[in-house]
Amino acid sequence: MMARKVYYIYNKDSLSYERVFPSLKDRIFIIIRHLATGVVFGLITFFGMMYLFDSPHEAILRKENKLLMSQYDMLSIQLKEAMDVLTDLQQRDENLYRAIFQTESIPESVRKSGIGGTDRYKHLMELSNSSLVISTTRRMDMLRKQLYVQSNSLEELINTGKNLEERSKCIPAIQPIANKNLNHTASGYGMRIDPIYRVPRFHSGMDFSAKVGTDIYVTGNGTVSFAGWRQGYGNCIIIEHGYGYRTLYGHLSRFRCKRGDRVIRGQVIGEVGNTGKSTGPHLHYEVIVSGKYDNPAKYYFMDLSPEEYDRMLQLAENHGQVMD
Ligand SMILES: [Zn+2]
Repeated sequence: MMARKVYYIYNKDSLSYERVFPSLKDRIFIIIRHLATGVVFGLITFFGMMYLFDSPHEAILRKENKLLMSQYDMLSIQLKEAMDVLTDLQQRDENLYRAIFQTESIPESVRKSGIGGTDRYKHLMELSNSSLVISTTRRMDMLRKQLYVQSNSLEELINTGKNLEERSKCIPAIQPIANKNLNHTASGYGMRIDPIYRVPRFHSGMDFSAKVGTDIYVTGNGTVSFAGWRQGYGNCIIIEHGYGYRTLYGHLSRFRCKRGDRVIRGQVIGEVGNTGKSTGPHLHYEVIVSGKYDNPAKYYFMDLSPEEYDRMLQLAENHGQVMD
């Protein structure tokens, strides 16, 4: 408590000090002055404290901000891991699956296609931790884009795989006559002695010697495009397998299918005979690929063991007479 000030004034007339009592106006002024000092001091203290210490609300915000930043850091790490997994997948796709299926590779520019410059992230620049937020957002964008490309690529490969499966069912892949029904003579594709004119001549198929009436199997899925008489071939069946493949079966005694029939590999389509230009009961079998004759011996891989295949090749390679 401040001591109350007492004022005196020297009176020249009485040569003595006389006590002065302040007027009401002076007293009010003093009170106001004291109050003003208190208010100013209080304000200085208040703002000083504000500057030095957070308000409870600010403290909560600061804490939340810190938590968010650590979550962002975590997210950034997880994104990097996801990108690594994706990169691994892309490499497998490129080096393994696409190589196996012999499909065209996806150019790097498409896989890693750009997301544009930094302008895209301009609205994030004003944040106090903008670099972390921008790099995380950019990584997220890249991941999304690349995942899209990758999923398309895998879908394409699945379709390719399905096509290959369908194709493998259609391509000729078995012998048209069961091994147990074969006589010992069979003659192969290439230059052979003509059975009638006795001169070297190109033999466009393979001959399987068998009894009249022996079952003839179609060698791949397809459609009967011809079943009738053809000069030289006698009773003859032609199957369209698609994918550029066609097979021909000649000298039949009987048809077991008709034009337009859908046939499945292994199905009986006719019986061995001796019709047309033929020197004995046998099946003349041709494989035509994109309009050109091919060696049928290359198309028995599905139902022969390696030993049987070797034996068949030896038989086919013998330069004996063909039966035409
Ligand atoms: Zn022949």
